[in-house]
Amino acid sequence: MSIPEEIKISLLCLFCNAPLEGENGKEFSSGDMIKCLQCNELNDYDSIIELVCDRKLKTPRFSWV
Ligand SMILES: [Zn+2]
Repeated sequence: MSIPEEIKISLLCLFCNAPLEGENGKEFSSGDMIKCLQCNELNDYDSIIELVCDRKLKTPRFSWV
């Protein structure tokens, strides 16, 4: 038994709150813009992560869901 180091998160569109889905195998990194499939707005990856960090302060790492 070990403490899980990675916690899966769902990234949500900053504009319409729809889940953002990456293309198969694609991983996002700092500085990327993620296009929302629902409203076609571009989300700033860093802003999304910042939001998630606010909600889950104890989350040490992130991985794409
Ligand atoms: Zn959206």
